[in-house]
Amino acid sequence: MHNPFGIPEILEELQSILADPEVNRLGPEVAEPAWESPLIGVSRGDDPLYAEFRETIGSFYWTPLEAFRTGFPDSGAAASDLAVIVWALPQTAATRHDHRTCTVLPSRRWSLARHYGEAVNDRIRDHLARALSGAGYPAVAPARLPEFQRETSERFGIASRWSERHAAYASGLGTFGLCDGLITERGKAVRFGSVVAAIDLPATPRPYRSRTEYCLRPSGCDACIRRCPAGAISAEGHDKERCFAYIRGTTMPFVEGEIGIPAASCGLCQTRVPCESRRPR
Ligand code: SF4
Ligand code: SF4
Repeated sequence: MHNPFGIPEILEELQSILADPEVNRLGPEVAEPAWESPLIGVSRGDDPLYAEFRETIGSFYWTPLEAFRTGFPDSGAAASDLAVIVWALPQTAATRHDHRTCTVLPSRRWSLARHYGEAVNDRIRDHLARALSGAGYPAVAPARLPEFQRETSERFGIASRWSERHAAYASGLGTFGLCDGLITERGKAVRFGSVVAAIDLPATPRPYRSRTEYCLRPSGCDACIRRCPAGAISAEGHDKERCFAYIRGTTMPFVEGEIGIPAASCGLCQTRVPCESRRPR
């Protein structure tokens, strides 16, 4: 039987949402798109990587099956019945351009994308979960479940029950940079979203062998270290506590005062770096 929700059809769904200027916009008063055309990847629910993530991040971390069963507690689905569908929404050229000129505080466009653009991402999560469920493929968006929350990982500090970036890594979309961002074919100035669905979709091949393969750090790149105004990135990696402290204490109050929105905006390490908008080679 023809599966009405193959990967091309799902991509079409995403593109049609993003093509609507009433939806994909930087805010009620800003009639310009929040996101460019998306990338999409799929992994299977029983991919061993998900058990590995849980093992390294903490027992609170959801596997795809746990996320799915949180939304559908009576489901008899097995991990092998599930697919994790992940998308990356690239920041627009205008947003990246503005942000590149900033050195201490985030640009207005970046902050609008963090707030209103993330609301667009939530609409995509909800829409896709509803559309798949309506077509007979029960689906949840883990980040939209009421049980989704912040946690503390013994090993990594600030964490949550589901990581869109880890799901993106598992789904062939890219590898991690020194700053913890995921470097995709459209760079790391992107935001991710995902749904877990009981649907038979093939996994996207992962064209990499290590979790940091696309990062140029081994060749001496230190661009994100130099970009971070908080000193939260070093040769050892990303200091999440320091990053969050800077966002909470400095950029959030600034954005609230300037634009009047509560946006956890910074992302300076995502622009004016070789991995900003492409996979660096
Ligand atoms: S700026 Fe350089 S070191 Fe930092 S994540 Fe990108 S490629 Fe890696
Ligand atoms: S988000 Fe901002 S504070 Fe955090 S690592 Fe990137 S540049 Fe530094």
